[in-house]
Amino acid sequence: MNTSGTVTQTHIQHGPMSSVRDRRAIRVSAVLPVYNEAAILRELTTQLRRVLEQECSHYEIVYVNDGSRDGSRELLNELAAEDDRIVIVHLARNFGHQPAVHAGIEHASGDVVVVMDSDLQDDPSAIVRFLDQWEAGYDVVYACRTNRKESLVKRILFYSFYRVLNSVANTRIPPDAGNFGLMDRKVVDALLKLPEYDRYFPGLRSWTGFRQTGIPVERGARHDDHPRVSLRGLFRLAKTAIFSFSAFPLTFFYLIAAASAVVCGLTVGYVLFHKLLTGLAIPGWASTMITASFFGSLNALGISILGEYVIRIYDQVRNRPVYLASETVNFRSRRSRRLADRLAAEQQPAGNRSTFESTIVPQVDLLLESLERQYSLLVTEEKLP
Ligand code: UDP
Ligand code: MG
Repeated sequence: MNTSGTVTQTHIQHGPMSSVRDRRAIRVSAVLPVYNEAAILRELTTQLRRVLEQECSHYEIVYVNDGSRDGSRELLNELAAEDDRIVIVHLARNFGHQPAVHAGIEHASGDVVVVMDSDLQDDPSAIVRFLDQWEAGYDVVYACRTNRKESLVKRILFYSFYRVLNSVANTRIPPDAGNFGLMDRKVVDALLKLPEYDRYFPGLRSWTGFRQTGIPVERGARHDDHPRVSLRGLFRLAKTAIFSFSAFPLTFFYLIAAASAVVCGLTVGYVLFHKLLTGLAIPGWASTMITASFFGSLNALGISILGEYVIRIYDQVRNRPVYLASETVNFRSRRSRRLADRLAAEQQPAGNRSTFESTIVPQVDLLLESLERQYSLLVTEEKLP
């Protein structure tokens, strides 16, 4: 943690901070999943609006009603009727916290998207500090939860989960960082391109890379004593996190195979010693022991080899992109130059080539740039005539 109170991830590349960012010039979306939170929704909306109104010129609040049955649906509709900056996605049934967050992100239109819970455990005023960091050039700003006001059992479980996850995950996922945080549009778009079904949002957000930083945010107490995500739900999420970011559970069988090979060697030695030298071996014992331990280790080896195939199939099916680029340099001029080269070769005699290039290349550059801006169209070299 540095002096300004930010926790910076070392695994993520911190390049020079990019062009000027201004919170007043963009649209901010706040995304909140809601499951039976009628008691707090009005208060939450008031607090959230206060912060957003103070900080941003344009904003929207995207509530995702995840199949609530306590009047949240009606209350949300009322709030939306009072203010058209509140938009609502009513899910057809209760799909769960992570799917609701995904639905919200998918329906958010902002240049930056803030994800938070709707039980006031995530303090809306932290959004101000998120925006400070975004303006400083970070693409992801997440809350590192401090001072959790939850039961001791839950605190121990969370603490252990984050440590276990980090010791086995192949992507570094910051400990104590949940969903609460801000993402730049490019991170949101990258996240939405990931087609995997079982989603652990904080892990996927880390996986995208870009420039990420964490800030300590106190985790408040729930407005009531009934967490909407059950302990069973939390365990399921923990499993999703571990299995979608680690192949360790499968590769563990290599260790089992190695250990059982050692046991097999020792058993064979011990059994043969008694069989051949002391004569203490009971008839049938030597062959039983040797075959059992040999095939035991062979089994474990077989499972680890199968595991290798399963991991590869899983990676292929999950279909995450092989890489994400945060920016490219000089590709536009390379492309314009190639196009101008081709035009010059077709239309101009050799003598006029340089004049042609000096006039045409900048024009082609400008044309492609405006095409890209207007139609969000990326003209790649492959698409050129
Ligand atoms: N939530 C949801 N669908 C569910 C369970 C929870 O949308 O099936 C919402 C809930 O309303 C809250 C957030 O997800 O805004 C987090 O839920 P909870 O407070 O129970 O989780 P915890 O803070 O204990 O992790
Ligand atoms: Mg909560």
